[in-house]
Amino acid sequence: MNFKSKIDTVVPKAINKVGYILNPLLLKIFKEEGQLLIFYFHGLYRNLEDRKLKHVDPQNNITVDQFSDFIEYFIRNKYQFIGPEDLDDLSGEKPYIMITFDDGYFNNTWSLPVLKKYKVPATFFISTYNLLENKSFWWDVVYKFRTQEGVDLGIIRREQQNLKRFKYHEINAYLEEKFGSDCFLPWSDVDRPMTDEELKVFSAEEYVNIGNHTHNHGILTNHSETEILEEFKTSNTILDRITGQVPKTMAFPNGNFDLNILRIAKEIGYKCAFTTQGLTNRLPHGNDEMLLLNRFMARPVPISNYGSFSRLGYDGDTLYNGFKDKVMNLI
Ligand SMILES: [Zn+2]
Repeated sequence: MNFKSKIDTVVPKAINKVGYILNPLLLKIFKEEGQLLIFYFHGLYRNLEDRKLKHVDPQNNITVDQFSDFIEYFIRNKYQFIGPEDLDDLSGEKPYIMITFDDGYFNNTWSLPVLKKYKVPATFFISTYNLLENKSFWWDVVYKFRTQEGVDLGIIRREQQNLKRFKYHEINAYLEEKFGSDCFLPWSDVDRPMTDEELKVFSAEEYVNIGNHTHNHGILTNHSETEILEEFKTSNTILDRITGQVPKTMAFPNGNFDLNILRIAKEIGYKCAFTTQGLTNRLPHGNDEMLLLNRFMARPVPISNYGSFSRLGYDGDTLYNGFKDKVMNLI
């Protein structure tokens, strides 16, 4: 590791260490009312045995018990859980929180008993191609096969990162060539997407909202205007057919978007677009035609490790990188 990358690792870690001590004090004077925290999850494990299977890229996946602890933490700290449909009616007198899940894994349905127990809504963004075809998500295919080959996690991450520069059909062709034409077949309930019948039943549940995550999980900044439209519209039509409702919300695959993509999403009629920019949101919001909402990534660790950072809207990485950008601009 060279000197520069050492600093890039050490400084954020040091900021986090100081944060653990300072945050409880800061939270006594920091005004949380009127802020909306939104978190995004990917997959859930029933227990730690599911994790050991290595059937899915662990990313930020957590167990159902950790998910339950996450909700309890924010209830304890007086946060009100809301869904996208509540956004217009909020006065900003409380701190608010929203839960979202990306992609449409079957394992997301394991959240239901927890959502019902705490009476908490969640929004699930579905990529419809995987659902219709019962195909694993491409990043899981890379993870599963490379892990089986004994490849280092760092190298797997680099391969996944490189693939994100391509269109979805190019990624699919690459994987089929590397791992065979059956490589997208799911290995178990841990990595498979929901079926259309499961989504139909799930979407009818009181605490479940469904949003668009494009048809092919295309990273939209790699695609043409026609392709972007197709990605949104195909998915809207399929979700409408399955759930009986055209989605009013969408989340950008991999968080990638630009002004042109925003314009297209607005024209299609989405009320909210969810990013992966790890920032808080302020309420009440303006009268924007389409709200652009920031989301924090949920982490694969207990919420007590990072809850205070999210509530204050920072962590070691964001603070350090923001500071570094400012210094670079001055130079
Ligand atoms: Zn996604």
